[in-house]
Amino acid sequence: MEWKENSKCAVMFSFDLDSDTTWKNGNDGYPNGEKYIKSTSIGQYGPKRAVERILNLLKKYNIKATFFVPGKVAEDNPELIKKIDEEGHEIGHHGYTHERFFDKTVEEQIEIIEKTQKIYKKIINKEAKGFRTPSGDWAIETPKLLYERGFLYSSSMRGDDRPYNTIIENKKTNFIEIPTHWELDDYVAMAYNYFPEEPSGLDRISGYEQVLDNFTREFDGYYKYGLCFVPMMHPQVIGTPGHIQILEKLIKHILEKDDVWIATGSEIANWYIENGKEEK
Ligand SMILES: [Zn+2]
Repeated sequence: MEWKENSKCAVMFSFDLDSDTTWKNGNDGYPNGEKYIKSTSIGQYGPKRAVERILNLLKKYNIKATFFVPGKVAEDNPELIKKIDEEGHEIGHHGYTHERFFDKTVEEQIEIIEKTQKIYKKIINKEAKGFRTPSGDWAIETPKLLYERGFLYSSSMRGDDRPYNTIIENKKTNFIEIPTHWELDDYVAMAYNYFPEEPSGLDRISGYEQVLDNFTREFDGYYKYGLCFVPMMHPQVIGTPGHIQILEKLIKHILEKDDVWIATGSEIANWYIENGKEEK
C-alpha cells in the first residue's frame, strides 16, 4: 500500500490498559475466585506503575499511541486517563469490564458501549472513535452497533495486515478495521501467572532477546511489503523494568527508517477513508 506522504509503511502503537478486569473475569471461573488477589494485582500493575513508564518512553521518541481502556478502568483511574489524553494519545473503547461481546444480547452490548462512552466523556470530554473487542470475539451485530453510534474504526480482527472497509449487512462501510496479529502481542509472548495458570499448561516466560527478535522481524516484513504494523501491548506486561527495554529497542529499530508513518488509530482510519485504494 501507499501511505501518508509516501511513507513505506504505517505503525499504530496500541496499548490495552486492561488492569485487573481480565484477571477478575478469569478468576470468576474458579470457586472463591473473587478472593484471588495476587492475580488481580498483576493487572493493577498496569495503571499503578507501567503506564507512566510507557508515557515517558513515548514522549522521549515523540510517538502518539492508542490506549484501549475498559470503562471500569477509566472510572477507577480518571487522572491517569486524563494524562494519557493530555499527552496527545488516543483513548479507544475496550468494553466496560472487558466483557466478551459474543454471548451478550444486542441490548446488553448497547448498554456496555454507551455506558463506557459516557465515562470517557465525563473524564476527557470526548467519546472514543475506535474499538478493540475485549477477550477475543465480538457478536455478529457488534460492528453495526458501533458504526451506528459514530465509531470510526475497530482494531479487533486478524484477517489482514492492512486496514479495510468493514462489510455490514452486505454493504461496504466507512467503518474501518485495522487488524492486528497474535505475533505482535506482548501478552502471548510474556504474560505469566502460576495460578490461575497463564498461559494454561505453564510454559516459561519467553527470552527477551527472542521476543524482541520476533517483533523486529515482523516489523521488517511489514515494512518490506508496505503494510500496517499494529503492536498490541498491555501495560501490565510490557511496562515492567525489563520488558520495556524490548519496547524501546523496537521503537529505535522502527525509527531507523525515515519513511515510516507512526499514527493513532483515528489518523490511520481517516487517512484510509480518504486515500485507501482497494487492492486485490
Ligand atoms: Zn484487553
